Amino acid sequence: TNTLHIIGGGMAGSEAAWQAASHGIPVTIHEMRPETGTFAHQTGDLAEMVCSNSFRSDDDEQNAVGLLHWEMRAAGGLIMAMADRHRLPAGGALAVDRDAFARAVTETLRAHPLVTVAPGEISALPEDGTWIIATGPLTSQGLGQAIAAETGAEALAFFDAIAPIVYHDSIDMSRAWMQSRYDKGETEEERTAYLNCPMDRDQYEAFIDALLAADKTEFHEGETAGYFDGCLPIEVMAERGRETLRHGPMKPVGLTNPHQPDVKPHAVVQLRRDNALGTLYNIVGFQTKMKYGAQADVFKMIPGLENARFARLGGIHRNTFLNSPTLLDDQMRLKSRPHIRFAGQITGVEGYVESAAMGLLAGRLAAAELSGKTPPPVPQDSAMGALIHHITGGAEAKTFQPMNVNFGLFRPVDGLKGGRRGRKDRYKAYTDRGKEAWQGWLDAYPLPRQTD
Ligand code: FAD
Repeated sequence: TNTLHIIGGGMAGSEAAWQAASHGIPVTIHEMRPETGTFAHQTGDLAEMVCSNSFRSDDDEQNAVGLLHWEMRAAGGLIMAMADRHRLPAGGALAVDRDAFARAVTETLRAHPLVTVAPGEISALPEDGTWIIATGPLTSQGLGQAIAAETGAEALAFFDAIAPIVYHDSIDMSRAWMQSRYDKGETEEERTAYLNCPMDRDQYEAFIDALLAADKTEFHEGETAGYFDGCLPIEVMAERGRETLRHGPMKPVGLTNPHQPDVKPHAVVQLRRDNALGTLYNIVGFQTKMKYGAQADVFKMIPGLENARFARLGGIHRNTFLNSPTLLDDQMRLKSRPHIRFAGQITGVEGYVESAAMGLLAGRLAAAELSGKTPPPVPQDSAMGALIHHITGGAEAKTFQPMNVNFGLFRPVDGLKGGRRGRKDRYKAYTDRGKEAWQGWLDAYPLPRQTD
């Protein structure tokens, strides 16, 4: 049959299903939730956002992830369409109402006449048919073992940490205030998507002491903590130096405390609105592996959060990913079993947007194959192309680690000098070039156009 089977209906699987179905290919999504859960997912919805509610920068001229947004929108992507529909004000970032977003993705896919959602866990590698495995960083153990048996233990695991969420009505607004950094944002609502808690020097020093002393979850033997810099736990940052947080998530710049306009804060903790109602705020950049009891004590030292109630505390998480540079071909197929593609975070990209993007590509490539077509190679100058090229060949296989999209993955643009102005010009050149390349690929793509 020409059915495409997708294991995992997360960010990548949902987008892959949408792309293939939009091109006339029948799709079955095999999703194990809610029957079998993961420690991070809380619902049975497709495309659930497990931590932050942000798809990061929406700036498609100066930011690589913003360019990826643009490319997914140009390809009629479902994840971007639903994110746009359920967008929350957040300055230049694309933040969404997570529940409304996931429900909309789920309902849209379930309503599509070519899409079937089949409940249940798949724990063996499929022998035949056309498949995409998009089971994410929390791939179930059974399937993880089956993959490892096939790939020869090339699948790795490491830990990241997640940030806590606070109830808005438990924040003391006589100490905290609403303001986005540098007052970014068009509307009043956007400018107030962030909430700030100031610290003076003594409070900051006491906070650092408490962080360093707090009880942490220890790693088990054999679990190497392969953190990468975008997602360092705050206590690990504090261990690197007492000033590190003040130059990272607690930097006091671009903000003025209306309660004390003449006093420059020594450090500022920022919280970002986490849902449309404005009832939940997450502490930006405060992923942690402190134990729950310790977290509540330490976070209540933050001025304004003395009586904070937490909707969710931070935690650590597992991340399963393949050594894609050695295992996958440039169409994301497993070299040893080319009827199986991989997509999403398990391919060694990192983040909701990157995962959805790799789902989009895998869905289109599988749809082309099932239609008997061979699309031209994904252009390397697009953000999509830069990412897929990196994971399937550009990256060093020996030291391969999950990767966010960034301009470092792009081929240089000639003739543009360094410096601040130069960097702006360079980024604009990357994004102009990327859009043209991606649009060219979409136009040349030998599949029927989407009908909706
Ligand atoms: P998922 O979205 O996780 O989808 C995989 C799906 O496969 C799930 O629905 C799962 O139930 C299902 N599944 C797994 N095994 C099986 C099986 N054997 N059979 C059937 N179904 C199966 N990224 C960000 O950009 N921002 C963040 O704040 C962020 N926080 C994260 C926090 C945690 C705790 C974790 C684990 C990851 C986080 N990530 C974050 C990273 C990553 O971007 C997300 O996990 C993203 O959802 C990955 O998309 P995916 O489609 O690859 O996997």
